[in-house]
Amino acid sequence: MMTGMVPSVLGIVLIALCVIVFVVGLRAARTRKLSMIGLVPAGCSLGAFAWSIYSPEVEMATRFAAGSAAVAAGLAHGVWFSLVALPAKRVWLRMVAVPLGMWFGTFASLWFLFPYENPGLKLFVVVLGSLTLTAWMMLPFVARDRGFVESGTRHVPSVRFACPRCGTRVDWGQGIAACTDCGLFLHIFWPADELQKRTDPEALLPERSVRFACPSCGTASDWNCGDSACAQCGLKLTLHWNVHKGSERRPGSAKK
Ligand SMILES: [Zn+2]
Ligand SMILES: [Zn+2]
Repeated sequence: MMTGMVPSVLGIVLIALCVIVFVVGLRAARTRKLSMIGLVPAGCSLGAFAWSIYSPEVEMATRFAAGSAAVAAGLAHGVWFSLVALPAKRVWLRMVAVPLGMWFGTFASLWFLFPYENPGLKLFVVVLGSLTLTAWMMLPFVARDRGFVESGTRHVPSVRFACPRCGTRVDWGQGIAACTDCGLFLHIFWPADELQKRTDPEALLPERSVRFACPSCGTASDWNCGDSACAQCGLKLTLHWNVHKGSERRPGSAKK
């Protein structure tokens, strides 16, 4: 009885992790739909796992729970790989990694649901599973925050936060930077002491903010669109997107 509960408890832990990913995904425009879809198998799986704990003799409950957990995990993988920060040159990896994990989830789900021996299906599950695992193992290296982005041969200091338009996490290089995925242009510059001396009547901007670590002292805080300063070290930073079209205030060099 006790040992029979272990897979169900692990399954519930997995579902909880998926739900956390979906909650994050709901806040980003590009993964909102995928996250809503993902909550359905996650909910079904949670119910079926609970049922399988109380009635371990019902084999179908465990099968159904594991099957829907695999679908939910595949979708959570898709959400995660859609939002993770990737260098501009490596964005194509999403097109490989997102479907890969979702197919793995689908085939693993079939494997759980149908108890017959099926060598073809098993092969699919093993191959897709090991490729998905490789993607996850490579992720910390590919997606690590190096504190700069490459622009030709130069290293431009960068800060990482979610794109205000599509929600993908992006390393924004100092100056004029574009979202790696939706192309939103954003203007970010620090230290902005000189810029902020000029008071701008246009500074009445709508209250929008993004959260990232201060490029100088590393304290995470909310930075408003417009001019602001770090509460910890006083670094002045200026940040604009969409609002100032064709702005004349271009202290950073434009880059692509
Ligand atoms: Zn974007
Ligand atoms: Zn600071």
